[in-house]
Amino acid sequence: MERKNCWEDITTRAKEKEVDRFAKGYMEFLNNGKTERECVDQIVNRIEEAGYTELSKIGKKKLKAGDKVYATWMNKTLVMFQIGKKPLQEGLNILGAHIDSPRLDVKQNPLYEDNGIAYLDTHYYGGIKKYQWVTLPLAIHGVVVKKDGTTVELAIGEDEDDPVFFISDLLPHLGAEQMDKKAAKVIEGEALDLIVGNKPIILDKKAKETEEGKKAAKEAVKSGVLDILKNQYDIEEEDFISAELEIVPAGKAREAGFDRSMILGYGQDDRVCAYTSYEAMLEIGAVDRTACCILVDKEEIGSVGATGMQSKFFENTVAELMDACGCYSELAVRKCLANSYMLSSDVSAAFDPSYASAFEKKNAAILGKGIVFNKFTGARGKSGSNDANAEYIGIIRKVLDDAKVNFQTAELGKVDVGGGGTIAYILALYGMNVIDSGVAVLNMHAPWEATSKIDVYEAKRAYIAFLNGIK
Ligand code: MN
Ligand code: MN
Repeated sequence: MERKNCWEDITTRAKEKEVDRFAKGYMEFLNNGKTERECVDQIVNRIEEAGYTELSKIGKKKLKAGDKVYATWMNKTLVMFQIGKKPLQEGLNILGAHIDSPRLDVKQNPLYEDNGIAYLDTHYYGGIKKYQWVTLPLAIHGVVVKKDGTTVELAIGEDEDDPVFFISDLLPHLGAEQMDKKAAKVIEGEALDLIVGNKPIILDKKAKETEEGKKAAKEAVKSGVLDILKNQYDIEEEDFISAELEIVPAGKAREAGFDRSMILGYGQDDRVCAYTSYEAMLEIGAVDRTACCILVDKEEIGSVGATGMQSKFFENTVAELMDACGCYSELAVRKCLANSYMLSSDVSAAFDPSYASAFEKKNAAILGKGIVFNKFTGARGKSGSNDANAEYIGIIRKVLDDAKVNFQTAELGKVDVGGGGTIAYILALYGMNVIDSGVAVLNMHAPWEATSKIDVYEAKRAYIAFLNGIK
């Protein structure tokens, strides 16, 4: 049952270069996609170059085998299809992943000043260890929608010349009481306020005497920040009401280790599975069954909302696709979904030797041993888990072995230590075969997460084998 370390297959310099080249592309994707919107923008550009057309723009044309179409929803969720030779009623081969990641979201009334420091108040998004997010350079990404309907896009803190932002922590000299607290309480959620300024607005004599000037002088540092927001970005304080601003670690993904074998970067849960999934879609040739890739938002907060997997967006798009192929009926849509096969990809917890007691080693994902399959996730007696069918896993084993793809199987930690959910159970509601799979990640949900380059590469190979191999 011992699984092979995938680097053993990389026996030539050319193969090693290929793994590196793929990792570089992935790191670029991480650098340019720190929010779900930025990911969708990038992916649309990439797949349009590769011949994909927006489904809503095909007009009266009937789709046929080989055609490639995509649809997006609210700029945060995307689904792409490559039409196969077989009728759609026979089902799709679906890759699914999510493109939202844990972060801090700016509140609707966020800006305040306290003792000469200006702050943006936040509410964290997804499961984080709050103490990991202090004293790091942070960036602000997102959109501000103004009342006239125009949108200001922000990404501040990524260029070398950009300012960054940060959250303070108490110095150790005064931290004795804090250090006695439980880790969950060391930094409280309401204390995750972003420091954004320290300089009072400078007003000339005349300006000081106006009503506005007098008001500005009362909270001079906050006023200074508002002045910059107005002048540089054309944003007013009330515009925060209709904004989605995400606070994320500033800086680029980096190669890690003397051997450069790993990638340290923000948002790898689950952009690592998203990148490998859509890149796999671009590498397949003609397919028998229609290939599909779903990249959704809101997984980290329960797949809710119009852009989460629980939304009818996907089902509606399949109906639209079948209509465009000339085979739509209510029954045909049901059959198509029920007959589909899916790899629900999300990151898996890599076995961490420093925290070995959280894992059961025989059934843990090992960094460098290839794509991970979780028959079940869940917690406390598999509760909430998808628990894939043995028959389906049998098919997948054969497909991967035939394509010489390295894979491993794992659980999320020891029994009763914890657990977690994915989007798998939502697609399984249609009756289709679904299994959880994905790339192993060290320090998942931390500001900087780590993956192995070879696992990233092997995931893409597995996805290609799946799309081509399930007939
Ligand atoms: Mn995830
Ligand atoms: Mn997650």
